[in-house]
Amino acid sequence: ILSSKATQNRKLSDVYDVNFDTPLGEGAFGKVLLVSHKQTGERVAMKRIPKKLASREDFQREMEALLRIQKWGGHPHICALHEHFDEGGYYYLILDLVEGGEMFDHLVNHGAYSEADAARLVREVASALDFLHGIGVEEQVHNDVKPENLMLSSTAQRCGSIQLVDFGCAEVEGEDDDDDDHLDLDDIFSRKRGAKGSNKHVGQGGFTPAYSSPEAFEDRNAAPLPPSDMWALGVIVYIMLTGVHPFDIQGRATDEDIEREVRNCDAPLPLGPKHPFTRHLSPSARDLIASLMERDPKKRLSAFEMLHHPWVTGETASTNIMI
Ligand code: ADP
Ligand code: MG
Repeated sequence: ILSSKATQNRKLSDVYDVNFDTPLGEGAFGKVLLVSHKQTGERVAMKRIPKKLASREDFQREMEALLRIQKWGGHPHICALHEHFDEGGYYYLILDLVEGGEMFDHLVNHGAYSEADAARLVREVASALDFLHGIGVEEQVHNDVKPENLMLSSTAQRCGSIQLVDFGCAEVEGEDDDDDDHLDLDDIFSRKRGAKGSNKHVGQGGFTPAYSSPEAFEDRNAAPLPPSDMWALGVIVYIMLTGVHPFDIQGRATDEDIEREVRNCDAPLPLGPKHPFTRHLSPSARDLIASLMERDPKKRLSAFEMLHHPWVTGETASTNIMI
């Protein structure tokens, strides 16, 4: 199943020079290093995943999600896979280099910005998710939408565009057969059904309570569905516009505290016009957050619907600078 025939007999060190001194980033599984192609000089990112931390199945899931995205033409706001290696104690993914760092660091350094500035970035994330959720027979899910996995292509003010990274928890609907460009839909559906009964979503390190939807807490074994990504994006929009997490306003909540708040159906979102953290928000921004952080996944805004929300299109997003 590990495809990419071109890479099979080559060693990574024959193809790339690796810069070990200044890692680009690190997550629960992977360390991401800057590498350059020996022949072309092209600079790319190398995600190195220790086999001690990730099984072959985990690695294949991430790689297949990335391969499928490429097969469907890729997306301007999703970080693309170039090739992969399986060598010694590590799996390696060679990815587009994303040079602007994580989006939140940029917002913090950049200082004051308006809803309209935020709306442009939010629109880019929504378009990436709309593409992803619509691949093949729908229901391709990122499943780990959080600030660390939203990067910017550049740090230049207002020029950086969003790059969605980290498909390590992605829900893949089926495996791509290298020799066959036609995906077998029956096969995909039966795999999908099979996935629901398994416990592969448990203990993957990708379960991030702060961004988990109510339905994910209800059944941690269930295969994730697109609305879970949209809930996570709702939490991110809230943070972008208020500077605080909706369920951890003091910054001291434990995972259990957050779970209790998310699952407590009666607790209203801290979103009203009198609330100190959301007083400055436009009514339209409040409406968007409420529609994304809607408890019922069937009623929650989809990525496609979100792209038509007037705040996301920029029509109603305030241009006042937020402090
Ligand atoms: P994990 O699965 O361990 O969370 P990620 O794929 O999220 O690993 O990568 C870890 C971190 O590395 C990210 O949060 C980000 O800061 C950085 N990173 C990921 N991909 C790239 C890339 N293509 N270019 C530059 N930095 C990246
Ligand atoms: Mg990550």
